[in-house]
Amino acid sequence: MPSKANAFAAYSAETPFAPFSFERRDPGPKDVAIDILFCGVCHSDLHTARGEWGGTCYPCVPGHEIVGRVTAVGEGVTKFAVGDVAAVGCMVGSCGHCPSCAESEEQYCETTAMVGTYNGADTVLGGHTFGGYSDHIVVDEGFVLKVSHGEEDLAAVAPLLCAGITTYSPLRHWKVGEGQKVGVVGLGGLGHMGVKIAAAMGAHVIVFTTSPDKREDALRLGAHDVVVSKDKEQMALHQGSFDFILNTVAAPHDLDAFMVLLKRDGTMVLVGVPGEPHPAPSVANLVMRRRALAGSLIGGIAETQEMLDFCHQHGLTADIEMIRIQEIDDAYERMLKSDVKYRFVIDMHSLKQPA
Ligand code: NAP
Ligand code: ZN
Repeated sequence: MPSKANAFAAYSAETPFAPFSFERRDPGPKDVAIDILFCGVCHSDLHTARGEWGGTCYPCVPGHEIVGRVTAVGEGVTKFAVGDVAAVGCMVGSCGHCPSCAESEEQYCETTAMVGTYNGADTVLGGHTFGGYSDHIVVDEGFVLKVSHGEEDLAAVAPLLCAGITTYSPLRHWKVGEGQKVGVVGLGGLGHMGVKIAAAMGAHVIVFTTSPDKREDALRLGAHDVVVSKDKEQMALHQGSFDFILNTVAAPHDLDAFMVLLKRDGTMVLVGVPGEPHPAPSVANLVMRRRALAGSLIGGIAETQEMLDFCHQHGLTADIEMIRIQEIDDAYERMLKSDVKYRFVIDMHSLKQPA
């Protein structure tokens, strides 16, 4: 029997979140049913709920930084048992046999495309998928992650499922490590995890921020220095000196201001996906020093598990501010003002409370 899920949804791009209920599938043989304890709030939730990327299906229940407790498992499930802590990130399915899936890069699935945890095509019930701003979820065990952190850390683990993997994956792919000068642009949810992870990998980390008051926090999070990106003089001091820059900014901006900071053969990776395009970057800046401008999408399931284990080994979690689901619209407004330190996490118990 499918089960009734309670959630908060955006019913349109313009209206505030409101209660919504829908059906979750009955767990199949390979499925894990999870009661959601905590769900992080990603800027992608905002882009999607407000229709900034196009293609949003309403009602939209965002949320892809999910930590919860297993309440049921199908008879074919081997990795999880009832009572376990489990996590779900940005995807809940993929074709499983294309070259990208075969290499455990399911986020780049080439046949059906990855099934997003929300706003994806629900291959079992039809319609679209509903994410973690809800009381429970049913997911194929191949897309469920194990959490080694202690119970007291679970709320702060939730953001690792997107902000953590989205920063860990490019840092690994471009082999960031000791002896390298690494920039992180934007100290928000992704950026603050990028700083922690890059520092744990041994890099010399510089934060670029538009918010001068985040300086002390950036240093506390593990940055070795902080540059206010609007200050041209401060920026000029770093010309041609970076091996790698991770750009997490959620809004269109001048990419050349950062491209010129790369060394010969340096790379800037964009993970932020603004609703409107950036001004076109200068070709000469790329050509003259063989610089690269690249992009990166979350990370595969195996790499997400590797990231969770890495964070556990290094004692890393997100810096969070806990909110009730009823406060989600305010949290979005604060996110737009860069006023988030450094990830909102919804305590999902609040769904049972009156507004
Ligand atoms: P966030 O918490 O809102 O952080 C973004 C940060 O960017 C802000 O805190 C701010 O930092 C800086 N910023 C904001 N507006 C700016 C502007 N106009 N100019 C310069 N800097 C600005 O967002 P997030 O959750 O980290 O997500 C960041 C972006 O990554 C979003 O577009 C999201 O959709 C995308 N994303 C991509 C992936 C992927 O797989 N590629 C995964 C998750 C999210 P300062 O105050 O320090 O300047
Ligand atoms: Zn996200």
